[in-house]
Amino acid sequence: MKAQPLPDLSRCAVHTVTTKPWPIGTAIEKYARAGFGGITVWRDTLVGRDPLVVGKQIRDAGLRNTALVRGGFFCYGNEEERAKALEDNRLALREAEATGAPMVVLVCGARPEQSLGESREQIRDGIAELLPEAEARGVVLAIEPLHPMYADTRSAVNTLASANDMAEGLDSPWVGLAVDVYHLWWDPDLYAQIRRCGKNGNLTAFHVCDWRVPTEDFLLDRGLMGEGCIDVPGIRAVVEEAGFTGFNEVEIFSKRRWEGDQDAWLADIARACREAV
Ligand code: ZN
Repeated sequence: MKAQPLPDLSRCAVHTVTTKPWPIGTAIEKYARAGFGGITVWRDTLVGRDPLVVGKQIRDAGLRNTALVRGGFFCYGNEEERAKALEDNRLALREAEATGAPMVVLVCGARPEQSLGESREQIRDGIAELLPEAEARGVVLAIEPLHPMYADTRSAVNTLASANDMAEGLDSPWVGLAVDVYHLWWDPDLYAQIRRCGKNGNLTAFHVCDWRVPTEDFLLDRGLMGEGCIDVPGIRAVVEEAGFTGFNEVEIFSKRRWEGDQDAWLADIARACREAV
């Protein structure tokens, strides 16, 4: 009997943070050789490198650059912090353009010293202020709602409904949303909000991993698709129904996996992309 051909990985991308020990050149070479179609570039990998050269390396390897991660952190306590946050986001937009990334993913920020409402206003105003530069560089600002456990310091945008509200309020082709299963899987309103997001043209990215049971570290113990309790294929199906045709971006922060052999880890990721997304 002939074996069924495995689904290919041309619609799967890997976030460089997933294989954190590898420098960007190694990640590009290994992802391409494994058959992945894309790479999502984290900014720490660009330190000390020319982003134009990195962009060329990605294209030469036959990979698509799906996004630059991350901008955001818009919340501030004084004018100096506000200006600094905007400057860093402008740098992110320039880096995205130089590497050929169509979007910058935003971890929007939060400050425990102020109300979430105040933080949300600062986030919305920060994004609005960057829109002319996003348009000039041809780079979308993609709001990524984060799980509410990160509402203290990482993001005051915690549900897809609230991200949809913000994107619709900003009403710009240069604003989009990144749907990450890790942050949103628990939400009883998720499917309806994904449909709303797609209908309004704001669904720009889809991030996958899994929720390990028990989760031992709420930042650095994400699971590989299929080893936790998130219905990744179910969410992907709704995302596709909503009109999304982009990549499954594998984004896994895992201290355990980073300590192990990265080639074996990438092979596990490839298998999970074929079998559990
Ligand atoms: Zn994500």
